[in-house]
Amino acid sequence: MNQPAGNVYIVVAPSGAGKTSLVAALLAAEPLVELSVSYTTRAPRVGEVDGRNYHFVDRATFELMIARGDFLEHAEVYGNYYGTSAAWIRSRLAEGRDILLEIDWQGARQVRELFPQAVGIFIMPPSIEELERRLRGRGTDAEEVIARRLAAARSEIDKVAEYDYLVVNDNFDRAKLDLISIIRAQRLRCDVQRARLAERLAHMGTARSDWSA
Ligand code: 5GP
Repeated sequence: MNQPAGNVYIVVAPSGAGKTSLVAALLAAEPLVELSVSYTTRAPRVGEVDGRNYHFVDRATFELMIARGDFLEHAEVYGNYYGTSAAWIRSRLAEGRDILLEIDWQGARQVRELFPQAVGIFIMPPSIEELERRLRGRGTDAEEVIARRLAAARSEIDKVAEYDYLVVNDNFDRAKLDLISIIRAQRLRCDVQRARLAERLAHMGTARSDWSA
C-alpha cells in the first residue's frame, strides 16, 4: 500500500487526565483533523449520543466484527471492548485527511505497528494526587473503580517513552496550545510537505533540487 496522504494522531491518557476536553478544543481549533468514532460494548453514559461519541454495539456484534476483520485495532478496557473501524480510517487517509484516535495504550501499540509514521501523544495529569482528586470529583465512580483507574494510570505513565510527545495538563489553555503545536509542527515537516510543494520548490530551487525525490 502507498504511504497514506493524511496522517494519524493517537492521543492516549489516563482516565481523568482531561483528554476528552482537550481533544474537543483541539478539533474546534483544527477543523481539518477528524476524530475517529470508536465502537464499544460499554453502555452509553448520560448525554452520550450513538454515532457521535461512540458506535454502541452489543458483545455479539463486536465479536462478529472482530471475526470479520472490521477493526484496525481493538482492545478490552475495564471489561468492555473498544475498537477502531479499519474501513473508515483507510478511506479518510486516502482522501488526505488527518485522523485523530482517542484510544488506550494497547490500541496505540497496534496502530503504530500498522502506521509507523503515526504520531503518538501522551497526556499526563499534573500529579497522581491531582488525578485522584479529579477522579473523585466526578462523583460517579465507586471506591474500587477509582483504585483500579489509579493503578491503570500508573502503569500507563510507565509506558510514556513509547510516545513521540508528552503534554502535561496542569493548565488547560497551555495544554491545548501544546496539542495544536504538535499538529502544526507535524504538518510543517519537510517530508510531509514535499509532495504538496514539489513543483513550486523545484521551480524556486536549482536544477539540483532533490525535492521531488
Ligand atoms: P471511556 O469508556 O471512558 O470512554 O474510555 C475508556 C478507555 O477506552 C479510554 O482510555 C479510551 O481512550 C479507550 N478507548 C476508546 N475508544 C477506543 C478504541 O477504539 N480502541 C481502544 N483501544 N481504546 C479505546
